[in-house]
Amino acid sequence: MTGPFPPQPWMTASETVRVLDALTADGAEARFVGGCVRDALAGRAVKDIDIATDAPPETVLDLLSAAGIKSVPTGLAHGTVTAVVAHRPFEITTLRRDIETDGRHAQVAYGTDWRADAERRDFTMNAITLTRDGVLYDFHDGVADLHAGRVRFVGDARRRIAEDVLRLLRWFRFYAHFGSPPPDAEALDACGEMADRLEILSRERVRQEVLSLLAAPDPLPALELMRETEVMDHILPGVGDLTRIGGLVRITGGDVPADPILRLATLLEAAAADEIVARLRLSNREADRLRAALADADNVAPGIDANALEAVLYRQGKAGVRDRAWLGWAGASEEAGWADLLRTIKEWTRPTFPISGADLDTLGIPEGPRVGKLLGTVEDWWIEGGFSADRAACIDRLRAAADLSD
Ligand code: ATP
Ligand code: MG
Repeated sequence: MTGPFPPQPWMTASETVRVLDALTADGAEARFVGGCVRDALAGRAVKDIDIATDAPPETVLDLLSAAGIKSVPTGLAHGTVTAVVAHRPFEITTLRRDIETDGRHAQVAYGTDWRADAERRDFTMNAITLTRDGVLYDFHDGVADLHAGRVRFVGDARRRIAEDVLRLLRWFRFYAHFGSPPPDAEALDACGEMADRLEILSRERVRQEVLSLLAAPDPLPALELMRETEVMDHILPGVGDLTRIGGLVRITGGDVPADPILRLATLLEAAAADEIVARLRLSNREADRLRAALADADNVAPGIDANALEAVLYRQGKAGVRDRAWLGWAGASEEAGWADLLRTIKEWTRPTFPISGADLDTLGIPEGPRVGKLLGTVEDWWIEGGFSADRAACIDRLRAAADLSD
């Protein structure tokens, strides 16, 4: 036990206090655990709040309901209840021990032993608990590991991975966010040796871990370790060239977001997109974005003709063109011109095509497939002309096109 850790706003927020008061109303204990404690100790913003308690799950449900707090039995089978206060979720998990494991899921027993609960957690930095008064319980030197950037398994790395192979992938994710070299040798050796067990993971879990890894400020060192240990072959087969992601991360001044899909695109050739879309169960939106970023249609690069750039922007939309420019910059050997190009893209506003279907109506052209075609012809002409034709000119052009296609 160390401490004290000065209470922070997320610990004393009224929502948090309500949940803690409810859980402890009958004498049970409740402490913060996992990501919130780790992130707070690292001086990072706390996202979700996880709480551990020695009350069994049914009691947790009763205590919450007695306090008028909404609860969702999100993972009752493994002892987790989610309390929701003012739209804010709190994951409450009863202290547990893993009795039997099958390589992914554990059969659990509930208990009242804080140390045993810490022992079944994955990494030392994730196994620290914190009371509402700021007392830290750090059974496995997690605080020191966190500050040293050591992502270390609680206990024997091989045994912990054998119990649950998801931990192997989580190791790379946490290395990406919290690690600094040298990586823990025992962990890395175990990950390399046991990589073929990753095949049993569900695609959803792989998706979650990979996208989270890619969202780290600099995911390159973790990806290099994945490649070195050949873990990559089981997660993103075919990915070997990390040059572009390194380039993307090093770009300064281009407003490049730490976006996992954009970063994923730097790792792939266009031809590999479909397989990765399926492997990572990307949503339609994510898949479209990935494919658009990788399409090697028009060249979006410094020196592109201003009209050509505007035409691409109009046809493909700003977001896709920005992605392509970021990717181009990431893979470029020259810095010159990219920042300006990105600025131009950012400042571009979409011009409005001056005519519409109503104008064809006025000209006496009846509704039907011809309308769309005619409008398309005039729109192409307007785009090619640098969007300079005004409404009158577009109507003239429409008349001419309509006569021609009679
Ligand atoms: P994040 O900020 O990404 O949510 P987190 O540490 O809260 O990070 P979660 O996946 O929400 O990560 O898990 C919460 C806690 O549960 C972890 O900190 C860890 O203590 C424990 N945990 C999660 N998954 C595992 C696992 N597969 N094996 C052992 N412990 C795990
Ligand atoms: Mg969490």
